[in-house]
Amino acid sequence: MIFPRCILAALLSALATFPAAAQSAFSVGDVSAAPGSVALGTLQVAARSGDSGSSVPFSIVNGSAPGPVLALIAGTHGMEYVPIVALQRLRDAIDPKTLRGTLIMVHVANMPSFLGRTIYYSPADGKNLNRVYPGKADGTLSERIADVITREVIARATHVVDLHCGDGNESLRPYSYWITTGDPKVADAGRAMALAFGLDHIVVDRERPVDPGASIYTSNTAVTRGKPALTTETGGMAVVDEPSIALVKKGVEGLMRHLGMRDEGPGPVTAPVMLERNEVIRAGFTGMFYAEVERGHTVAKGGRIGRITDFHGRTLQEIVAPFDGEVLYVVGTPPMTKGEPVAMVGGKS
Ligand SMILES: [Zn+2]
Repeated sequence: MIFPRCILAALLSALATFPAAAQSAFSVGDVSAAPGSVALGTLQVAARSGDSGSSVPFSIVNGSAPGPVLALIAGTHGMEYVPIVALQRLRDAIDPKTLRGTLIMVHVANMPSFLGRTIYYSPADGKNLNRVYPGKADGTLSERIADVITREVIARATHVVDLHCGDGNESLRPYSYWITTGDPKVADAGRAMALAFGLDHIVVDRERPVDPGASIYTSNTAVTRGKPALTTETGGMAVVDEPSIALVKKGVEGLMRHLGMRDEGPGPVTAPVMLERNEVIRAGFTGMFYAEVERGHTVAKGGRIGRITDFHGRTLQEIVAPFDGEVLYVVGTPPMTKGEPVAMVGGKS
């Protein structure tokens, strides 16, 4: 738009009368990013008896004007590569000079699991990082990693996104989790974040604890501290694929627009499928799992999802759908341990 000269002069004088607040430097750990700049750093998790500690690589993209502090956390599970790769690319594609507010990107939250190539559990202590929040300063390695991320990242942010995908064994169709528990204002803002991220299936998550001292999950650690948050799932099976990376990129760009951090970006998803009912189906036996459906398939109540056999191939259990719904993820590799997930089904009601 071209302004007539007189209007432009009036606008400029109005801006001079009410100068915008200046953006400050932003620090995480011992690294500081000046306004309009990018800084790279690593948080150290000190060694204790029984382990050798860990490191948490991060980037700060500090805008040139004030605004929200959006934390983007990747690599909570060690074989969920899509968000890890997507964040590196996003960091390089965002111009801090035109950004309002600040991005904190955690590139690999769970380094022991990433380098150890383990699903779900850390090779250091056998714990699931996304079940030990807000962590413990004197706990096991996963608990200490959670403690560092809670204090240095989540506590510093105004909004948090925990970026997952199907783990190394999970074939997954994209979806996000909207946490409804806690402060209704925070929940409403979380819903708006889910719409802005743009994934067309949203699991309505009514089961999260409300105690900030026992928040259990990464995004719930934010929610229980009054900060809107979201968990996203894009990709799976340890594949680094461009369509899944594009979903993360589009999602973060949509969020930055929604939060007023940038003018450009995609608009929110208009008619998402809200999954009011969901269930993670767990194995009744240890053995081998053979899926008979694919991610995204619709299933009727009682319909076959797969079967678990013993190590000679004899069927131990037929896995069936608990209600009419859609397969959000299904395990795509044979190893199966009693009590672990075989599939997740989401339904509209
Ligand atoms: Zn995960």
